[in-house]
Amino acid sequence: MEEQLQKCHICGRSAYFYSTYLKYYLCKKHLERMLIKRTRGAVISKGYKRRAFKLINDGSSAYKLNAFLFKADKKSIISLRNNTLEDFALAVLEYFISKNKPKLKIGSTKFFNPLYTTSEDEIIAFLKSKNEKADLKPRTDREKYLLQFMRDIEKRRPGSMLSAVRIGEKIRII
Ligand SMILES: [Zn+2]
Repeated sequence: MEEQLQKCHICGRSAYFYSTYLKYYLCKKHLERMLIKRTRGAVISKGYKRRAFKLINDGSSAYKLNAFLFKADKKSIISLRNNTLEDFALAVLEYFISKNKPKLKIGSTKFFNPLYTTSEDEIIAFLKSKNEKADLKPRTDREKYLLQFMRDIEKRRPGSMLSAVRIGEKIRII
């Protein structure tokens, strides 16, 4: 209810989405711009020179966002995978619990995960703003439990899931 009164931090139009990560409200247009800037920025900062990639259609909401954000090129040697912030935060948390190095990696010379800092909330809000069907990724009970644990922390300390991913990146386990 309260959200309807909120305004986009950038343009002042009525807000559509609250970014816990940026700590402000965004309209549909600026949610889209923020996602474009962040994901294309990630591609560039990791040194990928291409603008078109092989896309992997696994039917996921993350795939739909990647297909919106990036041009498809079946011949590209780099494929874009569809893992999200939640997948990487879970991998890092599992590492700290079990010490097993995650199989999940952000990228290599053959693939990249441009949504590794993008949350499922953001993906679903974006797709719904385009009237696209969007579903949460199916999770095991253990994943659901660990995600709930992280989301509870996230409520008190916004950005903590992202911090976990940044730590994983820094110590080179993902
Ligand atoms: Zn706006």
